[in-house]
Amino acid sequence: MKLAAASILLVTGFEINTVSAKPIEESGLEPIYHIYNNGEYLGAVSNNESLKAAAEEKIDHTQAAYEELNLQVDRRVNVIEEKVFASPISNDHEALDRVAEALPIKAEAFSLSVDGEAAVYVKDREAYNETIKQVKLAFVSPEELAEWEERLETGKAPAAIGVGETRLMDLAIAQKISGASQQVDPSAVMTVDQAVSYLLKGERFHRAASGESAQLIAEEFDMTVEDLKKMNPNLNLAAFEAGTSIKVAEEGPKVTVQVQREEKTAKAIANKTITKKDKNVLIGEKKVKEKGRAGERHVTYSIREENGQRTGRTVSKEAVAKDPVDRIVLEGTKPLPSVGTGKFAWPAEGGYISSGRGERWGRLHNGIDIARPDGLAIKSADHGVVKAAGAAGTFGNRVVVDHKNGYETIYAHLSSIDVKVGEKVPKGKKLGVMGSTGRSTGLHLHFEVSYKGVTKNPLNYIK
Ligand SMILES: [Zn+2]
Repeated sequence: MKLAAASILLVTGFEINTVSAKPIEESGLEPIYHIYNNGEYLGAVSNNESLKAAAEEKIDHTQAAYEELNLQVDRRVNVIEEKVFASPISNDHEALDRVAEALPIKAEAFSLSVDGEAAVYVKDREAYNETIKQVKLAFVSPEELAEWEERLETGKAPAAIGVGETRLMDLAIAQKISGASQQVDPSAVMTVDQAVSYLLKGERFHRAASGESAQLIAEEFDMTVEDLKKMNPNLNLAAFEAGTSIKVAEEGPKVTVQVQREEKTAKAIANKTITKKDKNVLIGEKKVKEKGRAGERHVTYSIREENGQRTGRTVSKEAVAKDPVDRIVLEGTKPLPSVGTGKFAWPAEGGYISSGRGERWGRLHNGIDIARPDGLAIKSADHGVVKAAGAAGTFGNRVVVDHKNGYETIYAHLSSIDVKVGEKVPKGKKLGVMGSTGRSTGLHLHFEVSYKGVTKNPLNYIK
């Protein structure tokens, strides 16, 4: 067949190539149009315009199930025009119906290939980009991704991360991902969500065509209707609409998303407790010379993951941030003094003299009363040995200390006593707690000093 210059038959923006088979100028001839699909003869019609209308109608009809897709006649369809004396077409309607029936309608879609093999089809380039982004976002946060992409773009070195922080260092899909515009069967086009779930889990969906039964779908995908039911527990397989998405496979991940992060952590460095003997500390007493503290080590890890599963963790950096400080405790070796100095310390924690020594209500008040103290501890006024401790009539709970140099002191009205008879009590040693036991009208300490059995005014001895 000799082919002449082509004219173009436009079908809703898509092209069917029309080629004239013979020169037009021969008179008395009428045209017929032969339609081929990828070399396969579909039939002939006598009216180009009718063919175009039939194609449009078929696209409109198919569109109902694929609203979001851009549908066109298969690009491989072409129309060849021929001029004949007598048309062999007897019934133009029938011929048109037959051709329209066979005319393949495709979606203008975008393929996503994994290692060169088309894995999924989405509706356009935008959906393709979104699919790749969503695959990554299955394993990193939007903030991480945005920060990392910005770092890649600007080439800026990142600021050091703080303790407890992580940072995305690398993100890659192990397989080669590529995309291309492609005409495909509309039922093969997935939504972004479906494409992502296919790439990450191998979940594949089929969109039911008009009139397609569960049995037909099962056969098409080499499954049983039972398999279909298991994969689609919420779907009524006896009645579903054209365009319904039906899961037909779950084959495991098709891509491997590799993520590398760094993570900075702090670890404690234990400190020791060192005990030292000290001759300035009394026997039985301990003094903390240095409180000490644990040290801190900063460890930065490089963590690798594949599809969310950790595949490795190595230490990338390690440094001592704070040295530990040992705790130092002094253990006393100094013998307890039991002989007084003759100089007395104030036996309470603050307070004031509410009653001095002297004549009171016709009787001698043998000591001083100390009231309104800052704290309640009662302390030995000088070194000595406890001579008596316990309840004693109007004194209530009282302690008597023999200073072994002729002096004795009495501490009365205590609410509780901390020492025992015979115990050595250095100056300042706590004897008990201020109270109001015995004959007392309120919280106070009654304190007496005597020398060789004669009471003295304590204020003359307190230094
Ligand atoms: Zn008193």
